[in-house]
Amino acid sequence: MKPIVCTGAMDVETLELMDGLKGAHTVPLGCWKCVAGELDGYPVVVVRTNQGMANAAASTALAIERFAPCAVVNQGTSGGHSPDLHTGDLVLGQRVINMNAVRTPERARGMGIDPTCGQLLGLEIANPHPGDGPKQTVFEADAGLLRAAQSVAWDKSSVVCGVIGSGDVWNNELDRIAWLHEQWGTLTEEMEAAACAQICAAYQIPFLGVRILSNTAVHGEPFDAHTGIDCQRFVRTLLREYREQNGC
Ligand code: SAH
Repeated sequence: MKPIVCTGAMDVETLELMDGLKGAHTVPLGCWKCVAGELDGYPVVVVRTNQGMANAAASTALAIERFAPCAVVNQGTSGGHSPDLHTGDLVLGQRVINMNAVRTPERARGMGIDPTCGQLLGLEIANPHPGDGPKQTVFEADAGLLRAAQSVAWDKSSVVCGVIGSGDVWNNELDRIAWLHEQWGTLTEEMEAAACAQICAAYQIPFLGVRILSNTAVHGEPFDAHTGIDCQRFVRTLLREYREQNGC
């Protein structure tokens, strides 16, 4: 049976899953911490990607090459964009976008800058063929993984489906956050999911991003690292649901 690779950037986003693994063993994976074993009777590999898009992309590619997983789930903490969400609420990434991939219109010297004028810029999906690869900035969730996530029984907080925005950025300007939410529908932001999704698109591996709000500038709620543990508990159930629903 192929494993599911589950990624998170920090200890507080990965240790709960790693500690739950039976027969846990550390596997060398470049510069990244990686522990493989069985979770609730199914093979799972947990990778700590470290923070940011480059780390997430590189460690996801290595994990796919090493384990040939049947699916990848990126999960962890995030900062809320939606006024409807508070710390502890969960966002299932029906869509993940790279918020930093933008093309700005031409503007003459002296005409100033406007962060709201950028249009999403397609990012090339890696492939070994001659010529440019297909371009994508928005990554849809795998339907089976999303279905499994939606069937998790969870009464601790709200669980919503929607857009997760990624980038090497931590936004604190409320006008910018409101603009991202209105323009691209982002419910929350973080720094890895779209990079993992882009690599999974290249390898054609089913992907889902799941993020818990650990903070939200919209409501002045500061970073609470403990939310990362709840996110892993949710994802553990999601993985079990997925296996049971898909028999793989
Ligand atoms: N206290 C920690 C906080 C790290 S936050 C530190 O300074 O190291 C950055 C990580 O948390 C990233 O991996 C990102 O995915 C996630 N994250 C949580 N809230 C975020 C926010 N509001 N904006 C961007 N990334 C956020």
